[in-house]
Amino acid sequence: MRIKSDVILDGVAGNGSADKHLQPQIYYAIGVARAIYRRYGYGLTVTSGLEGKHSVVNSKHYDGLAVDIRTKKLVSVEIQRIVTDLKTILDKEGFDMRIEPNHIHIEYDPKTDDTKWIERVI
Ligand SMILES: [Zn+2]
Repeated sequence: MRIKSDVILDGVAGNGSADKHLQPQIYYAIGVARAIYRRYGYGLTVTSGLEGKHSVVNSKHYDGLAVDIRTKKLVSVEIQRIVTDLKTILDKEGFDMRIEPNHIHIEYDPKTDDTKWIERVI
């Protein structure tokens, strides 16, 4: 797994606070994504964590609850398959995924109490 050189995972805020961290749920999602990418013969590259300018004002990135993973080398059918695989595992646990130019955005945003299992585990 690679992490793009300007990605911040820990300790520096994207929007003011000096003490932000990528949350454990996102490390879990990165692990799942890494395993899925490997299944398709690719390494995983994280292209955004806490830092950066995101189009959404209240982006989950700023709370350490989102990550972007690179899709630059993948063709669209592979991206679709990878997102389908990600959803199979992560959807029911409260994660959302969105295909963006050059990356897949993954965020933790549980809608119901029964997707909060991971918070009880951690
Ligand atoms: Zn993102």
